[in-house]
Amino acid sequence: MSGDSRLTDVAIVGGGVIGLSCAFELARRGRSVTVVEREAVGFGASTVAAGMLTPSFEVELTPPELVELQLDSLRRYPQFISDVESAGGLSCEYRDDGTLWVSRHRDDELELDHLCQIQEERGLPAKRLTGRETRAIEPYLSPRIIGGLLVESDHQVNSRKLVAALEAACCAVGVEIVEHTGVGSIEQTGGRLELVVQEQAGTSALHAEQVLLAAGVWLEDGLATPLPRIGMRPIKGQIVHLKGQPLVNRVLRNSDVYIVPREGGELLLGATEEEQGFDMEPTAGGTLDLLRYAFEILPGLYDLYVSEIDVGLRPAVGDHQPVIGPTNTDGLFIAGGHYRGGVLLAPSTAHFVAELMTSGRVAAQVEPFGIDRLVAERQQEAAG
Ligand SMILES: Cc1cc2nc3c(=O)[nH]c(=O)nc-3n(C[C@H](O)[C@H](O)[C@H](O)COP(=O)(O)OP(=O)(O)OC[C@H]3O[C@@H](n4cnc5c(N)ncnc54)[C@H](O)[C@@H]3O)c2cc1C
Repeated sequence: MSGDSRLTDVAIVGGGVIGLSCAFELARRGRSVTVVEREAVGFGASTVAAGMLTPSFEVELTPPELVELQLDSLRRYPQFISDVESAGGLSCEYRDDGTLWVSRHRDDELELDHLCQIQEERGLPAKRLTGRETRAIEPYLSPRIIGGLLVESDHQVNSRKLVAALEAACCAVGVEIVEHTGVGSIEQTGGRLELVVQEQAGTSALHAEQVLLAAGVWLEDGLATPLPRIGMRPIKGQIVHLKGQPLVNRVLRNSDVYIVPREGGELLLGATEEEQGFDMEPTAGGTLDLLRYAFEILPGLYDLYVSEIDVGLRPAVGDHQPVIGPTNTDGLFIAGGHYRGGVLLAPSTAHFVAELMTSGRVAAQVEPFGIDRLVAERQQEAAG
C-alpha cells in the first residue's frame, strides 16, 4: 500500500484476534476490507493468550450482561472454528475437553462448591469430584489434591494457530492485510474517513467509508483519533511454556494458576496480572510464582524443559469490560478493551460488529458495552 491514496469500504486498525475476526465476518458479508497492522499480524496480546474459553472464571465479579456475551460467544465457537478452518485451510487446535478445577485445602473446596452451584444455575454441566476421582482422570496430579470440579462446557483453542488460521481465512475471503504499516491518525474529510499511514516507503493515505478501531492496548498510544480519551491501559501477563512428556489431558486450574496442555507435549502456565505500563520483559518473580503454583498441582513438571516465557498486554478500560459499538464520529467504530477474554469473545464481537457496520443496528447483547459509559465516567472524574 504505498504511494497514492487508496479507497476501501472498511479499514480495520489492528491485526489481533478481534480485528481479524471482524474482518473475516465483514468480508463474508460482501464488504471490501483492509486490515492495517503496525507490526506483523498477531504481534499483540492475541498470540500470547492461553486460549481458554472459560466463562466460568470469576463469575461473581463479572456483570451478568458480560457473562451472557461470553456464553453467546462460547456457543458460537464450534461454527466459528469450522468457518475459519474451512475458509483458510489451517487448524486452530480447538479442543472441548473441559476444565478441571482442583483443590488443595478447605478454602479451595468451598470455592469449588460455589462454582459448581453457579454452573448449575446457568444450566451448564459441572461435576464435583473427590480427590480420588480427580486424580483418576488426571493421574499426574499431586497426591495433595483433595477434590475437583470438572466443567465440561469450557473449551480451548491454540491462540497462535487461531490467529494464523484467521489470517489465512481473511485472505481467502478477499481481505487485504497490510503489515508493518502503522496508522498515525484518523480524521473525517469530505464524508469519508482518512487514515494517515506510516510504512517503510513513507506516509500515505487510506480512505474508508467506515473504520473499526481494534488496536488493542495501543488505542490511545501513537494513534490520533476524533475520540475522547477512554483510559485504555495495559495489564501485563507473563506465561511460561514448558515442553516434554505430555502430563495432562485438559486445562487444570485453581485460584493461583492455570495449566493449559497443547499438542506435542507443550504446557502453558499462566498468568501473571501486573500494572507495569507497556513493559513487556519477563521477570524472575513472575516466572518463579507461576512455576511454584503449578508445581504444587503437578509435581511432574519439574523435569520438563522451559521452552519460552512470553509476555502480553491485555487491553483494559476502567470497568474491565469490552468496548464495542459506534462512536460519535460517523463511520468510526470500536472493538476493544477485551482484557482477559478477547479470544473467548472474538466470535460474538465479530458477529455483532459486522451486524452493526452493515445494518447500523446495535444488538441488545452489546448495547451495555458502548463507549458512552466511559466518556461520561471520565467527564464526571474531570468535573469532580
Ligand atoms: C498472558 C495472557 C493470557 C490470556 N489468556 C486468555 C485466555 O485464555 N482466553 C481469552 O479469551 N483471552 C485471554 N487473554 C486476553 C486476550 O489475549 C486479549 O483480550 C485479546 O488478545 C485482545 O485482542 P485484540 O485484537 O483486541 O488486541 P491485540 O491482540 O493486542 O491486537 C492489537 C493489534 O493492533 C496493532 N496496532 C496497534 N496500534 C496500531 C496502529 N496505530 N496501526 C496499526 N496497527 C496497530 C498491534 O500491533 C496489535 O497487533 C490473555 C492475555 C494475556 C496477556
